[in-house]
Amino acid sequence: MTEPPRRPPAAVLTELRREVRFHCPAATASGSCGSPYLTWHHFDPPWRVEKHHRPEGMIALCREHADKADNGSYTDDQLRRFKRSGALNETEVRGRFEWMRRDLVAILGSNVFVDTPVLLSFDGIPVIWFRRNENGEVMVNYRMPSVSPRTTIINNVWDVDQGDIDEVICPPGARTLEVRYTNGDIFKVEFYAAETAEDAIRRFPRVGPRHKLRGLSYPSTFVTITDVAQEGRIRFHEDRVFKPIQGHQIASSWFESCVVGIAVSGESPEALARDERQHRVWKEGRTPAVRQRLIEEWLDEFDAERAAAEIQQAVAVRRSRSRP
Ligand SMILES: [Zn+2]
Repeated sequence: MTEPPRRPPAAVLTELRREVRFHCPAATASGSCGSPYLTWHHFDPPWRVEKHHRPEGMIALCREHADKADNGSYTDDQLRRFKRSGALNETEVRGRFEWMRRDLVAILGSNVFVDTPVLLSFDGIPVIWFRRNENGEVMVNYRMPSVSPRTTIINNVWDVDQGDIDEVICPPGARTLEVRYTNGDIFKVEFYAAETAEDAIRRFPRVGPRHKLRGLSYPSTFVTITDVAQEGRIRFHEDRVFKPIQGHQIASSWFESCVVGIAVSGESPEALARDERQHRVWKEGRTPAVRQRLIEEWLDEFDAERAAAEIQQAVAVRRSRSRP
């Protein structure tokens, strides 16, 4: 008889992750571990005894606790208890991207953003933007208007609401985050370090003008964001085009040294006032230093929780206007 491969089938991994609500369920001094970076462990029977992939004899754990389990830290009864207690953990799933770089090239749809702090704004409110930490390294921010609870990223810390998650996939390397929702929506972030231009072109065959990709300095780190939401007006997927508004598309474009890459805006007085604030950065930012300060000031205004409320309000206004 041939042995099954060491890596369990995808469906088994999904079942194991779902069972513990996408958190490591190992008991710790303060409750449970909670790490979202899950791997797997065979215990009943262990892999060395039988090469099997039966979910009832396996458990999803973070790498640290999987190593401890491999070394016999837990009894089978304790692991079964972790499986049961994990199922009751309905807190949001939270993690952090550790990829800190001085420069990040962003990809939305098939479009490339270089040295552009705000990739996308909606009615004058940044929804995808970069900030720098005290070491000057770039941090990713993402807060897309949506009526359903969705994933947000604030300064590289991501939060996934448990609401209608079907699946959260974030392997221990913390290089990717993929969230699938029960209605078919997909949200995905991936970091990729390209060693050479050819490497980048191979990895992103449909993205941007190739001569521009070749012109970047290498090695270069890319972050791609995919958001395919059924209800959303704004969707982007690496293999497809970026659709900022119904009926409009932006594809294979290159945004470089912009304050705001793409600004989608309505004509309500609130939206126009916020747009005006956004435009001031352009108008008054005559030198790079002044521009940087104005951008920081503008983004500071949106770091508060207020931004989330304003975005929801803007969406609600849009919706009420678009009704016949
Ligand atoms: Zn753990």
